[in-house]
Amino acid sequence: MTPDDRDVEPWRWPDARWRGIVERVRAGRALRPRQWKDGARCAVALSFDSDHETNELREGGESIGRLSQGQYGNRQGVPRILDILAANDVRASFFVPAVTALLYPDEQRRVVAGGHEIGLHGWIHERNSGLPHDAERDLQMRAADTLERIAGVRPVGIRTPSWDFSPHTLAITRDMGLLYDSSLMADVDCYELLMDGKPSGVVELPVEWIRDDAVYFNMNRFAALRPYTPPADVYDIFRREFDGAYREGGIFQLTLHPHISGYRSRTWILEELIRYMRAHDGVWFATHAEIVRYAAAEAV
Ligand SMILES: [Zn+2]
Repeated sequence: MTPDDRDVEPWRWPDARWRGIVERVRAGRALRPRQWKDGARCAVALSFDSDHETNELREGGESIGRLSQGQYGNRQGVPRILDILAANDVRASFFVPAVTALLYPDEQRRVVAGGHEIGLHGWIHERNSGLPHDAERDLQMRAADTLERIAGVRPVGIRTPSWDFSPHTLAITRDMGLLYDSSLMADVDCYELLMDGKPSGVVELPVEWIRDDAVYFNMNRFAALRPYTPPADVYDIFRREFDGAYREGGIFQLTLHPHISGYRSRTWILEELIRYMRAHDGVWFATHAEIVRYAAAEAV
């Protein structure tokens, strides 16, 4: 629905109308285990969205400069991140647009060889929330087939490129038999996704823009957008998110982008965070799929 089509007088809506909109996709039962795997107190779900060149291509852009920043994600970002994860024996989840996988099949194989998970992240990082049903469904299924063919493992989870759903996204995700989505923000714990009030069978592992590097570091040369938070402050925000998760016995979920955080002045954030979290007893580092499976099985 475009803004033009939208009824711009929602204060006149009958209750059934606004309630129907809210009920399309809703958080249901929280899935919170009493403790995490092997008695751990806190679960850490690190994720990396390997958008690379698709951030430019998604809008039909052809800027060679911005495409080169995307290529940095492959040449420097992912290798630096994989080295940090390997050095600290941490496994994580990488959400990969199919076009990234087609550009860099070796990168995906290296990610899988490192013990990490690969999840869906659209075809070309398209704005899935604005797509017609058939196009969205076709792209999501083709992306799953492409990732499976390249990485050798069928994805079980999705992070939508828009971090948003169309009215059809959840039904498509459910029909594909995916275990989880990681794009919505209704809780700090995993939760059941309800569709029109009924359990969909899909689990949400929630994200938040607060725990996303792009929010703090993105820059657009010809617009006013500039990084406005120093790396040390970004680290501080992430660390406090972890502190809260540890205190509450919950999940610390984080999203970084190789082409945004994979720089000499920023990779220390990931290294320092891992070191800080490792210094706490009972922290379980796992992939999103592992955490979702555990939460769904052990929820009290
Ligand atoms: Zn992305």
